[in-house]
Amino acid sequence: MAGPKGPIALFLDDVVVLRKPHPCGGDTWRIVRLGADIGLRCVTCSRRVLVARSAVEHDIKRFVERGPLAPSE
Ligand SMILES: [Zn+2]
Repeated sequence: MAGPKGPIALFLDDVVVLRKPHPCGGDTWRIVRLGADIGLRCVTCSRRVLVARSAVEHDIKRFVERGPLAPSE
């Protein structure tokens, strides 16, 4: 993964913790769509949202797990 100022490589089925929690209280999200907007499914309540990629990159606190498409390091 790139440093804090570089772009973050995101892959389908990555699971991330974001700084902004969902209204349901969950802060863990699975990436379900990639593009200019990132599709995220809340792991806690299963609702799906679309968020601008730049906002997602800014809000990622940590990766919980990487999807099967992510290159192993
Ligand atoms: Zn939720």
